[in-house]
Amino acid sequence: MTKERTGIGSRGQSERPPRVFVVSGPSGAGKTTLCAEVIRDLPWLEASVSHTTRAPRPGEENGRQYHFVDRGTFEEMIRVGQFLEWAEVHGHLYGSSWKSLEGRSGGRDLLFEVDCIGAKQIQKKIEGAVLIFIMTPSLEDLVRRIQRRGAVSGAELAMRLQTARREIRQVAEFDFLVINDRFTDAVDALRSILISERCRLDLRAGHWIEKWAREFDRLSELPS
Ligand code: 5GP
Repeated sequence: MTKERTGIGSRGQSERPPRVFVVSGPSGAGKTTLCAEVIRDLPWLEASVSHTTRAPRPGEENGRQYHFVDRGTFEEMIRVGQFLEWAEVHGHLYGSSWKSLEGRSGGRDLLFEVDCIGAKQIQKKIEGAVLIFIMTPSLEDLVRRIQRRGAVSGAELAMRLQTARREIRQVAEFDFLVINDRFTDAVDALRSILISERCRLDLRAGHWIEKWAREFDRLSELPS
C-alpha cells in the first residue's frame, strides 16, 4: 500500500475513500452551528454540500450551503441514481450526491449533515460511516431554539416536533450521542468523536507495520 492510501498525514490522501461522518438529529438541535464550528479547525475534514429544492435563505449561496435545484431536476437526479441518500424534510427534498464523495479537495474526510432517514441510508451504503446524533437536553430547549431562529407558526412547530419525536426514537441506531447543552462542551464532544474516529486503527495498520519494518531494514543496512 502506498502512502497515499494510508489516510495518515495531510497530503496525498486522494486515492483512499474518505471517512464518512454523519451528523443528524432534530431540527433546532444545533447541528449546523456545531458542524460549522468544528469544521473550522479540522483541516482534514470538509462538509458535503447537499442538493435541495427549498429556496435559499438570505445570505445563502448556491454551491456553498446547498446546491439549490428545482423539483424536476431533483427528481431526475433520483431517477438516474445520482443520490447516495435523499429524503423529503418538511415539504422539501434534500439529498447528498454520490459525486460529493469524489469531489472533495486534498483527500479530506467528509461530514454529512442530514436528517435521520438520510443518515440510515448512508449507514447502509457506506461501510464504516460514523453516525452522530445531536439533541438538546430537553424538549423545552428544542422548542426554545426553534422559536429563536425566527417566527414559526403553531402548525409548523407541531410538524417539527412530530418529526423530532420520530427521529429521537432512532437514537439507539447511532454510534454517538452529543447533548447540545453548553455549546462549547458540545463542540468539544463532537470534535473529540471526529478526531478519535480518525485515529481508529483500521485497514491502515498493515501499511504502517510494513513501512516501519522497511525503515528498520534500512537502519540495519547503515554502517555502525
Ligand atoms: P435546512 O433547510 O434547515 O437547512 O435543513 C432542514 C433539514 O434537512 C435538516 O434536518 C437537515 O439536516 C436536513 N438535510 C440537509 N441536507 C440534507 C441532505 O442532503 N439529506 C437529507 N436526508 N437531509 C438533509
